[in-house]
Amino acid sequence: MRIVYSDAHRGHDGAKEMRYDQMIPMFENPGRMDALVTALRAQGHRDFVDARPFELNSILRVHTPGFVAFLEQCWPLWEAEFGASGFATAYTFGMRGMEQQPNESVHSMLSCYTFDVCVPFVKGTWTAIRSAVDVTLTATQEITNGATAAFALCRPPGHHASSDLAGGYCYVNNAAVAAQTLLDQWAKRIAILDVDYHHGNGTQRIFYDRADVLYASLHAKPEQEYPFLLGYARETGVGVGEGFNLNLPLPLGTTVAAYREALAAALVRIRAYAPDVLIVSLGVDTFVGDPVGGFRLETPDFLTIGADIAALGLPTLFAMEGGYAIAALGT
Ligand SMILES: [Zn+2]
Repeated sequence: MRIVYSDAHRGHDGAKEMRYDQMIPMFENPGRMDALVTALRAQGHRDFVDARPFELNSILRVHTPGFVAFLEQCWPLWEAEFGASGFATAYTFGMRGMEQQPNESVHSMLSCYTFDVCVPFVKGTWTAIRSAVDVTLTATQEITNGATAAFALCRPPGHHASSDLAGGYCYVNNAAVAAQTLLDQWAKRIAILDVDYHHGNGTQRIFYDRADVLYASLHAKPEQEYPFLLGYARETGVGVGEGFNLNLPLPLGTTVAAYREALAAALVRIRAYAPDVLIVSLGVDTFVGDPVGGFRLETPDFLTIGADIAALGLPTLFAMEGGYAIAALGT
């Protein structure tokens, strides 16, 4: 399997996140990629491909121009006001009854274009965002060229980002950009299978009213886990998109038996949909030892899950999402 990677994510580092009563180093950090690359090489994978640069255009097919301009300008604007130390994050959010249009202040942009405090900006953030898209679109090109599978080893992840909102470590929705690119180029139908521990609220929202992308997600139930406000089974799509959104929420403590039952339901739906390409939003924070997860999948379970997905026999693009148990992540 072709594995696409770029080192250009590395500058997106050094910010902190809130953990109850303290600020701690981000779980989403460059060490994740180092762990993955090291383990893949140790396991004998030699088919690494360098990411190629792509135009901003493909991002703008999924995200609004104002939002993309914000992602690019946020750090320079923040730095001009506060200097080069620290990181940019929102103080307020554009909630009910508040203005939704930002003014020229970077604070108002952060308030309108982010939905939580887990999307900090530092000097290298925009470069990393672009590199994650380049990695994903290079892998997408491999699929278009006939590869049966390709792995986009990208960070930051993407599935919490919608067309004009960043959150949950996610800025640009890499999997959604890949899906839209395939549809623009040649594909008629794309299925996105999201196996990250968290619901991919961004991906759901982007394709919620469309029938050309089937979104199927296995995740921790919103009553118990982030993002708390989406991911219910009752969310099935709207308009022509009705029936093309499948949420399979699972309780904390889920082990492989129940997980595979839900996965089987997703795979039945995907098989019936007959997509041209399957995109897997590959989060592995379902692992028992993950510091932000609450499921109990063991390392061998991921081979079983992989075999279940492979049995579909579809061209498959894997886009890296979450997974924060760094010592075990590569395996
Ligand atoms: Zn996650």
